[in-house]
Amino acid sequence: MNSSAGIAPTGETVVIEKPVLGAIIDRLWRDGYTVVGPTLAESAIVIDQVRAIDDLPIGWTDEQEAGMYRLRRREDRAYFGYAVGPHSWKQYLFPPKTTLYSIEFHADAMTVKPNVDPVPSYAFLGVRSCDLHAIEIQDRVFLHGPYVDRHYQARREKALIIAVHCAVAASTCFCASMGTGPRSVRGFDLALTELEGEFLVEIATPRGAAICDGIPSRAATGYELGAAARIVDKTRDSMKRSLNTNGLPDLLYQNLEHPRWDQVAERCLSCTNCTMVCPTCFCHALEDVPALDGASSEKIRQWDSCFNPDHAHMAGGNNRPDIRSRYRQWLTHKLASWVDQYGVSGCVGCGRCVTWCPVGIDITEEAAAIRGDQQ
Ligand code: SF4
Ligand code: SF4
Repeated sequence: MNSSAGIAPTGETVVIEKPVLGAIIDRLWRDGYTVVGPTLAESAIVIDQVRAIDDLPIGWTDEQEAGMYRLRRREDRAYFGYAVGPHSWKQYLFPPKTTLYSIEFHADAMTVKPNVDPVPSYAFLGVRSCDLHAIEIQDRVFLHGPYVDRHYQARREKALIIAVHCAVAASTCFCASMGTGPRSVRGFDLALTELEGEFLVEIATPRGAAICDGIPSRAATGYELGAAARIVDKTRDSMKRSLNTNGLPDLLYQNLEHPRWDQVAERCLSCTNCTMVCPTCFCHALEDVPALDGASSEKIRQWDSCFNPDHAHMAGGNNRPDIRSRYRQWLTHKLASWVDQYGVSGCVGCGRCVTWCPVGIDITEEAAAIRGDQQ
């Protein structure tokens, strides 16, 4: 192996031996990053701190179906041989609970103090293409609209992203039909393709190149580049679900009274799981939390869901008082009005809402039923 000790130029693809990923993780921690990536906990692959390669779910995979998730041992020692789990990177960029500001009350005045707590520099390890698109969507919501969310902005600007091209699709994945995967095309600093004993590393940004500086590597051969492309092609071909997006917003707007909404409402528990696991959902609620002595108060932002009955409660009453209207709101927002608001669908086809719905409601099946493809 020809070792490279300089900074590999942006745009280059190099090959590293698999254990060298450990040296990259060490480098990231030494450079002040908090490395988060896939780990095993509570019978699932969840995102948590990764201190060393042994923290990765090496040799594990997941089986997913509508309303079903199960871990299974693989026959090899693949580092990234599984699809997405219940967590997404949303929890780090848009945390479930954030203090926006605090207020101190004085005898004849009050002082408002914005929360300027330092935020960690995260290195996201193992980001899949669907989730890169989800981050891009949340960027549109929090950074590129009329108001910039500085809490999201502070986390987002610091985040370094190491993507992994998918070698495995869960049966609930449908990114290919959404144009969001399984190959990562943008939004990363480095992108890995897992080969048998090595990783192909695409260096996309100067920040990614700096992390690879001095890491033992060699240039990728044409054969290896072809092998990497075939892995992703195979993943695409293996995908079982799809969503027909052709004219979908208009189709949904024209079917707001379709009987399918009543049928799905009989199954839906309005439990909010689908919105909690969704990497693009951003509904939140604001709450004032006063101190017991009455001298101060905090304004808290926390994740909320359009499935919570109170979420649509306004001065004149609740405009989505039943599960039918709440499920319809969620699906039509994801697949139709999101396009009007942000120019893209709110769904990246990650399949999480399908897997983690306790009654196995499947967004692809519901949209197909409205279209008349199935009953
Ligand atoms: S669709 Fe499923 S996950 Fe979503 S609220 Fe209804 S029961 Fe819960
Ligand atoms: S709606 Fe479902 S499949 Fe689409 S991005 Fe959200 S969780 Fe993933």
